[in-house]
Amino acid sequence: MNSSIFWYRKDLRVADHPALVSAIKKSAVVYCIATADQIGSPFDTLSEIRQNSLRSSWRHLSDSLGGRLTVIKSPAEIVSLAQKLDVKQVFVSKVYDTHGIAELKAISRDLQVHGIELVEGPGNYAIAPGSVTKPDGTPYRVYTPFYKAWNQLDQGAPVPSPDLDKVAALPNPLTDWDPQFSKGDDVIAGEINAIATLERFLAGRVENYSENRNRADLGGTSHLSHALSHGEIHPRTILARVPDGPDAEVFKKEIAWREFYADVLFQRPDSVTEYLDPKFARMRYDEPTDKFEAWKRGETGFPMVDAGIRQLLTTGWMHNRVRMIVASFLVKDLHLEWQLGADWFEQHLTDYDPASNSHGWQWTAGCGTDASPYYRIFNPITQGYKFDPNGDYVRKYIPELRHLAGSTALEPWEHAHGYSLNYPKRIVDHALERIESLARLEELKTL
Ligand SMILES: Cc1cc2nc3c(=O)[nH]c(=O)nc-3n(C[C@H](O)[C@H](O)[C@H](O)COP(=O)(O)OP(=O)(O)OC[C@H]3O[C@@H](n4cnc5c(N)ncnc54)[C@H](O)[C@@H]3O)c2cc1C
Repeated sequence: MNSSIFWYRKDLRVADHPALVSAIKKSAVVYCIATADQIGSPFDTLSEIRQNSLRSSWRHLSDSLGGRLTVIKSPAEIVSLAQKLDVKQVFVSKVYDTHGIAELKAISRDLQVHGIELVEGPGNYAIAPGSVTKPDGTPYRVYTPFYKAWNQLDQGAPVPSPDLDKVAALPNPLTDWDPQFSKGDDVIAGEINAIATLERFLAGRVENYSENRNRADLGGTSHLSHALSHGEIHPRTILARVPDGPDAEVFKKEIAWREFYADVLFQRPDSVTEYLDPKFARMRYDEPTDKFEAWKRGETGFPMVDAGIRQLLTTGWMHNRVRMIVASFLVKDLHLEWQLGADWFEQHLTDYDPASNSHGWQWTAGCGTDASPYYRIFNPITQGYKFDPNGDYVRKYIPELRHLAGSTALEPWEHAHGYSLNYPKRIVDHALERIESLARLEELKTL
């Protein structure tokens, strides 16, 4: 048996990892190597918090591997390392996103030149994207029938963790990039934490999930998105632990949204940056100016929008309901193209996932999957009353509104001292921009 490399990308765990198990089974020695850059997301372009989330994941993975993980900067270095280590095979988890597929294809081609094979094992989905199809073999374009078909398929049982005896540390000094694992301490990560997060959710919040998941102030969701996006936990591990019951069913359906969007992106690779419904590319949009800069800083003057962006900038995560409010505001109040917001999310979200991000944006922008028509325009003020009724979420992330009690924090303009701590004034009039958005939709129909 030869030595091999196991190439870690977004599958940073040891448990329930069939691709790793296969590498260990088929090799005498396995070198575990993670890469930092990814096409579309080079490490240096990520926000500090997103960089730290990766460092933290690598550090925990390294602990799981008994300290035998090496992190290199660029995937291209895999090729030279494979030659230096004289391996015949590089194992990796199969990927389904546009950039990931391109990356694996390029590395596979470069390895082949040196007689080295790239072996792709099962990836990070309960059901592999591309395998849920209508009876006539075509893909689903709408979520509900996708879910029904997805739910009928066998998702399999979690795979036992492999024996790590064959995993070896890289002989020094084959690589000189220092990712400084220890700097990642402000982001909690790793597979042990992922399991603990799941157990905490199952022990409490899952019972009221359907009622509380939309409340920005309650933290009623699982917070598993970071772990899923870094591959610290396999969705099959989650699904195997989800109990029966109506709330658990709603939660399972959210896991299926992740799988649906992965499927849609796999079927339409261009939709990572292009309009899924191409007619929306012809719509009249504005150029990004100072209003876009205010949106990026969380200074639009609309409390729910600003609290969401500030939650993103300070924690690397944003509540799902608020992602929709913030996204709708960018597209329908500022009349900007969704890709601008998606790029900002990509830099900052520690749970960044190309399929969920691009299609979460497209859904909100009205150009994506399912029945979310363009004319559904979120009102950032009434959404606040519904999903942060006491203003707690807004006050938590906006210090300039902390002097306002209860729901008055949602409308500082209604309060005599609303602006006494210099909270910015509203950059647009929502009612007018709503009319403008609808006018642009009418215009599109005539183009
Ligand atoms: C504009 C926009 C951008 C988004 N970008 C991302 C992204 O980059 N990465 C990402 O993981 N999610 C993204 N989402 C989906 C969703 O907001 C997050 O998955 C969710 O907020 C994560 O929190 P949680 O783990 O507590 O979710 P829970 O409510 O506990 O859900 C459990 C899991 O189901 C999946 N899930 C839940 N809701 C969705 C959804 N609407 N679409 C796809 N999967 C879902 C996630 O993997 C999540 O971890 C985006 C949504 C929108 C509207």
